[in-house]
Amino acid sequence: MKQELIFEAPRRGLPPRHFADLDDDAQAAAVKELGLPGFRAKQLANQYFGRLIADPQQMTDLPAAVRGQVAEALFPELLSVVRAIQCDAGETRKTLWRAGDGTTFESVLMRYPERSTVCISSQAGCGMACPFCATGQGGLTRNLSTAEILEQVRAASATMRDEFGGQERSDSGKLSRGRLSNVVFMGMGEPLANYNRVLAVVRRIIAPAPHGFGISARSVTVSTVGLAPAIRKLADERLGVTLALSLHAPDDELRDTLVPVNNRWKVGEALDAARYYADVTGRRVSIEYALIRDVNDQPWRADMLGRKLHAALGPLVHVNLIPLNPTPGSKWDASPKPVEREFVQRVRDRGVSCTVRDTRGQEIAAACGQLAAEG
Ligand code: SAH
Repeated sequence: MKQELIFEAPRRGLPPRHFADLDDDAQAAAVKELGLPGFRAKQLANQYFGRLIADPQQMTDLPAAVRGQVAEALFPELLSVVRAIQCDAGETRKTLWRAGDGTTFESVLMRYPERSTVCISSQAGCGMACPFCATGQGGLTRNLSTAEILEQVRAASATMRDEFGGQERSDSGKLSRGRLSNVVFMGMGEPLANYNRVLAVVRRIIAPAPHGFGISARSVTVSTVGLAPAIRKLADERLGVTLALSLHAPDDELRDTLVPVNNRWKVGEALDAARYYADVTGRRVSIEYALIRDVNDQPWRADMLGRKLHAALGPLVHVNLIPLNPTPGSKWDASPKPVEREFVQRVRDRGVSCTVRDTRGQEIAAACGQLAAEG
């Protein structure tokens, strides 16, 4: 089965305007349109990004008389929780969301001793058709709006604060127990195929309150199949976020099938773009490599991977091996541990740092590539 790649999502179906869709100027203009004084815009931003409140009825510094009007015009309820499930003793939590038009998508919150990470979706479904990924099998439903993406971050931040810390977020940017520290665009969708909205989201995630959630740029990871021109564009934004490139094969022959976008931008072009990203931002690029038994786990491919990465990126690269998470109906499986260990060693022997990612959430279908919205 050959699926067509979709770079431009259908324009239909984006939700009504939300405060979080707007940049600072547009927020000020929207507040003015409602006949409210200008300072209310900053108040609303502080409630949303600082206090993590999206319901104007709970915004106690807003006069009760205008809350209904503000809610209707600027805070439509965008998402509802269809299902929330946990594993790893509550340290991993997957949420299935439903948007106003019935579209569903997922996010996953993972707590570790030193950090907490939310894995968010940038599209409902995905148009990139990678055959080993559950999301890729269903095709693309639509882009998510800026606010729909930000809502996933706000909800995760609120969970961290309310359930795992009892501490208010502080504006000082210090990491506290009850604070969300990392955001990765590794849920459903190809973030760089929803470029403008994802960019607006990233700006809001890293801006200090009241303009944003105040998460450090280096703790935000944008993961891509390798849309080379968009990688360069993102580099030029100079945001300092971490780039992850989903390589999965060092050679074009195999990558053409594992990551079909390789038919448009080859391994060499993706690595050149990654190099550009590293040069412009000074940040080390992550290479994602889902290790698949007897498909891409051969010793010679490990050698080739290490060699090519070392040549293209020198010390500015780190390889994340992801043991393949089996997805329903897939013929593929993870590599045996000894094969995995040899792969890691061979990549390291070429002078490239390499670790194996822990696979959280497998039993609740919340691990990499398992996100699919069954409803
Ligand atoms: N579209 C973006 C984000 C996708 S998900 C991208 O491709 O980078 C994040 C990572 O999970 C990607 O590297 C993706 O290839 C990987 N992945 C997808 N399905 C997987 C599976 N079944 N097992 C392990 N990793 C998988």
